[in-house]
Amino acid sequence: MTFRRSTERLERHFKQVLEELNIDLQVGELKNTPARMARSWLELTRSYVLQEPKVMTFKMENVQILGIHSLHYFSLCEHHGLPFEGEVCVMYVPNEKLIGLSKPARLVSYYSHFLMIQERFTHQVLEAIKKAADPVAIYVISRGRHLCSAMRGVESREHEYVVEDMWFNNVASKETWEQRLRNSEKLSHERVYTSY
Ligand SMILES: [Zn+2]
Repeated sequence: MTFRRSTERLERHFKQVLEELNIDLQVGELKNTPARMARSWLELTRSYVLQEPKVMTFKMENVQILGIHSLHYFSLCEHHGLPFEGEVCVMYVPNEKLIGLSKPARLVSYYSHFLMIQERFTHQVLEAIKKAADPVAIYVISRGRHLCSAMRGVESREHEYVVEDMWFNNVASKETWEQRLRNSEKLSHERVYTSY
């Protein structure tokens, strides 16, 4: 698939959309708004033209649970094109292979720059780490606040949407690690959010 993205073409389309909404583009600062919207949308959906980040690993024994918390993200919901944002926490039990510390953040950034739903986003982060590290167990949890339900529809500003995804390499791993991963995440979450 080849990707062609033209800022000029996108700017023309945004101009048409705004005019269709009866917005007079000659008033105030609106003249250059279609161009700014075009550049913003190219940036916010940039992962459509990027390669998935490579996740390198290194060997290390005797690590039990590894957790990376509070990975903040911004994304756009694929139902309304409105933002949702929140935090991701990745925890895994390595099988002697560790992934670099910055890699979960890169994956979160990559997968959040598509039109997205939070469930798939969470699952894709899990799958990418699973593929790279071949771990014993992995637990990814995302928390999200969605402007499409806060600004419109039910207009509920308070609620937070939580998605959990887990994977274990076998039944014994599930029995051993499920509760420990959950507890470990819960403790870290409480520690991070009560210290704010
Ligand atoms: Zn939505």
